[in-house]
Amino acid sequence: MPKGQQKKTPLASSAPEATQAFAHPAEAEFARILDFYGIRWEYEPHSFPLRWEGDQVAEAFTPDFYLPQLDLYVELTTLRGGLNREKHRKVRMLRRIYPHVKIKLLKKRDVLRLLAKYGYGPIGPDELPEIDRILIPPPRLQERVAELARLVEDDYRGLEPVLVGVLRGVVFFMADLVRHLNIPLVIDFLSISSYGQGGSVRIIKDLDEDIEGRHVLLVEDIVDTGMTLKKVLDHLQGKGPASLKVCALLDKQARRLVDVPLHYVGFEVPDEFLVGYGLDFHQRYRNLPFIAIVKHEALA
Ligand code: 5GP
Ligand code: MG
Repeated sequence: MPKGQQKKTPLASSAPEATQAFAHPAEAEFARILDFYGIRWEYEPHSFPLRWEGDQVAEAFTPDFYLPQLDLYVELTTLRGGLNREKHRKVRMLRRIYPHVKIKLLKKRDVLRLLAKYGYGPIGPDELPEIDRILIPPPRLQERVAELARLVEDDYRGLEPVLVGVLRGVVFFMADLVRHLNIPLVIDFLSISSYGQGGSVRIIKDLDEDIEGRHVLLVEDIVDTGMTLKKVLDHLQGKGPASLKVCALLDKQARRLVDVPLHYVGFEVPDEFLVGYGLDFHQRYRNLPFIAIVKHEALA
């Protein structure tokens, strides 16, 4: 039973709803950035009593946002000094009374830097006009790659597999995957060119290793129609490996035309054009540390 398949993680394809009414434009802007990164947020979900008069709460503080994935409250600051002093005072009181609560007082220009600390930056939506939003943020990618590695490691212990990647998109996934594999292994790459839709696949650079009688794991970034994978699998099968399996980071199942076996799958993804973490759009965006969706109008 292919274990990778069972743990497949479907991802929602619809963008988060932005129906919240905000008190301040900076809050709407912050929410837009969080949505871009796929970071869940709650707007003013909780008031913390800070001072009591008898049984009555005489003073309370309601932070602007709570980010459940980061377990973090965020209060946005404006440029007006008087208001900021008041906010700083309240945040200090809150920290004293509720020491377990994590809260950050944030200036607009520090937003991306804060998110970067949690693995989400430092590139924001304004620097990526062709990108609609992030589908898989860096921490989720890294977590899933480590999970896949554990499955592969269990299955290939003692077999010294040859991990084969198809250039160029796969190099990021391959590099991260093998770093988590604490077993002896060999890596190799082949390079192909494809001509048009459903066209032929030509091997431009073949393997350097002899894989006859060896256990081969083909590593792919994304499987779409499955045509490329089918051709590559036929090519590798012709070399007489002892076994041949497939590990794909992304599975765009909705567009599958050819039935190909996927033994380990990172994420099932919606029918969108994806970039980042090795995937390109006209050779750009491969270096993004996340998987993102390209805007439909950019593709037209
Ligand atoms: P298939 O032969 O399965 O239709 O196509 C697989 C190849 O098409 C992938 O290896 C990849 O190069 C490209 N591809 C398919 N979907 C996407 C996508 O969403 N983004 C990018 N950048 N490339 C894709
Ligand atoms: Mg407020």
